[in-house]
Amino acid sequence: MSRTFAMIKPDAVQAGNAGNIIAHIQKAGFRIVGMKLVQISMKQAQGFYEVHRERPFYGELTEFMSSGPSVVLALDAEGAVQKWRDTIGATDPAEAADGTIRKLYAESKGKNAVHGSDADETAAAEIAFFFAGTELVG
Ligand code: UDP
Ligand code: MG
Repeated sequence: MSRTFAMIKPDAVQAGNAGNIIAHIQKAGFRIVGMKLVQISMKQAQGFYEVHRERPFYGELTEFMSSGPSVVLALDAEGAVQKWRDTIGATDPAEAADGTIRKLYAESKGKNAVHGSDADETAAAEIAFFFAGTELVG
């Protein structure tokens, strides 16, 4: 078993798709070990996406991510990081495979419904960014 970090982004929460996305997560075979609704500040969004600071979309991305509530989750599965990336699909919904969460729910490359960690180390750092140890079930 390994663990990844997922987020249902403000566009999907605003559109009323959080419930469907949580159902999709469970049907895909993940065990939810942490989950909460948060509205992240601009400062938190900047910290979370620090790796993208120099990219042209950084301002728009951090504005968007702090614009409304998100659902943050910690998910367990065999090969959780890759399995979750496969479940969400490509960053740009136009390139996402049929049946993936981004194909089903994303509006655009920026407002793309969900986040997924890109490696085990980033997953651990992203979970620690949002969850206290006591907020994760055993
Ligand atoms: N993003 C964007 N424009 C781009 C690339 C990325 O607005 O050209 C946003 C998008 O919301 C994406 C996030 O920045 O999910 C992080 O980008 P990354 O390349 O890490 O994509 P991801 O890992 O989320 O698929
Ligand atoms: Mg990424």
